[in-house]
Amino acid sequence: MFQYDLVVVGSGPAGRRGAIQAAKLGKKVLVIEQGKRVGGVSVHTGTIPSKTLRETALNLSGWRERGFYGKAYRVKQEISAEDLRRRLLITLDHEVEVLEHQFARNRVQHMRGKASFVDASTLEVVKDDGELVKITAASILLAVGTKPFRPDYIPFDHKTVLDSDELLEIEELPRSMVVIGAGVIGIEYATIFSALDTAVTLIDPKSTMLDFIDKEIVEDFTYQLRDRNMKIMLGTKADKVTKLDDGKVELILDNGRRLVTDMVLFAAGRMGATDALNLKAAGLEADSRGRLKVNPETFQTSVPNIYAAGDVVGFPSLASTSMEQGRIAARVAIGAVAKEPPKYFPYGIYAVPEISTCGLTEEEMKERGIPYECGIARFRETSRGHIMGLDTGLLKLIFSLKTRRLLGVHIVGEGATELVHIGQAVLNLKGTVEYFVENTFNYPTLAEAYKIAGLDAGNRMGDIKSEL
Ligand SMILES: Cc1cc2nc3c(=O)[nH]c(=O)nc-3n(C[C@H](O)[C@H](O)[C@H](O)COP(=O)(O)OP(=O)(O)OC[C@H]3O[C@@H](n4cnc5c(N)ncnc54)[C@H](O)[C@@H]3O)c2cc1C
Repeated sequence: MFQYDLVVVGSGPAGRRGAIQAAKLGKKVLVIEQGKRVGGVSVHTGTIPSKTLRETALNLSGWRERGFYGKAYRVKQEISAEDLRRRLLITLDHEVEVLEHQFARNRVQHMRGKASFVDASTLEVVKDDGELVKITAASILLAVGTKPFRPDYIPFDHKTVLDSDELLEIEELPRSMVVIGAGVIGIEYATIFSALDTAVTLIDPKSTMLDFIDKEIVEDFTYQLRDRNMKIMLGTKADKVTKLDDGKVELILDNGRRLVTDMVLFAAGRMGATDALNLKAAGLEADSRGRLKVNPETFQTSVPNIYAAGDVVGFPSLASTSMEQGRIAARVAIGAVAKEPPKYFPYGIYAVPEISTCGLTEEEMKERGIPYECGIARFRETSRGHIMGLDTGLLKLIFSLKTRRLLGVHIVGEGATELVHIGQAVLNLKGTVEYFVENTFNYPTLAEAYKIAGLDAGNRMGDIKSEL
């Protein structure tokens, strides 16, 4: 009756993982993608480009070596926007090739065009040449992601006033930059450009930032940013943003201050990319931010054969979680068993320095009234840290005093987004402080910080139980 078992709109992490999952289970699957190449925001304007930019910035600036050779050390004296773009293009090409190969290997069909609903089981696709195609499907997975929020009062010009998608196309590195929005994207780019010697000012109307991260970690992070002269202005809003005749941009803040800068990055929020979907025809409605409501376990919308996953359903809006959501949604859609993922997933903020976290923060432990103990290790206490010339970096473990279980792991510093997975595994496997105290870690490694933090907490918790 239908042309396809599952049609997926969008080829980002949620869409591609969902499509491949359904195809692996023998279903006929089509992915519709409006972009030139598959991959979604994640590959083309979000995760991979920003992380490639970060890696290039750290390598060319010699950032990681400055602990030894001083703050003036540079691998390349004049870093250009072209230097950054070159590596980006190579990386993106590899990513897309792998994705296209995955689709081909798993017999996932792919159509380029913009999809919108005709009814709950039919989509109309406008192809690049204007041709219209109607597609019917037993189930539809909406994995359309988000696009940057662009308020009218910001004079975007694609050159000096930009959103995070446009930032990747800049022709020159700015000497100064104001980043509006201290969310994850704003913070990542602010710190990357600061590592490239751009004078960065970060502003946000909220008086705190990264509220979902353990406060002690945010304090350490903020100290490091201020220590290298990044200006952080919280509780402040830009009332007026104007392009000046000399090419610079002027910001008038609500506290009366005036900032003049080479470039403004507006990174205050993203909207669900649902406006072109003609949701009404399918009996669906998005909220004021373009997001769709779903059952959090099945990712089913209010229309039974339509599913939504990834950024379009809101928090946590990560590529990593989007993939899992897409996989679960596809399994439910085709009637396969879909196990719920473990409760705690890691959150990675690829700022300079990195932050990564999994489980409960100290603030959440207090709110929930769970008696706890913390163990702290600084990377400079590890031999690997000495070898790498690290004088910053902090790992914090939080244990329940009652069960001795690890309930939270929080890291700021080099390699945080990789290191967190040790804590994540112990946490989700319900491990206790004894795991860290009794196990041997490779030496010299930064992972040894787990041992130090485990001993730190264990000593205070007393009565270390040995299972040996
Ligand atoms: C700057 C930045 C940095 C990020 N860094 C990280 C990170 O380090 N780690 C992490 O885990 N996450 C990161 N993210 C978030 C991550 O990119 C998203 O969580 C992820 O891309 C969401 O995947 P998705 O499948 O929901 O959709 P997306 O990746 O947004 O893809 C949606 C796709 O749907 C297509 N589409 C939309 N509407 C239609 C239509 N009508 N017809 C056809 N196609 C359509 C779009 O063209 C797009 O290709 C970052 C995001 C940004 C912006």
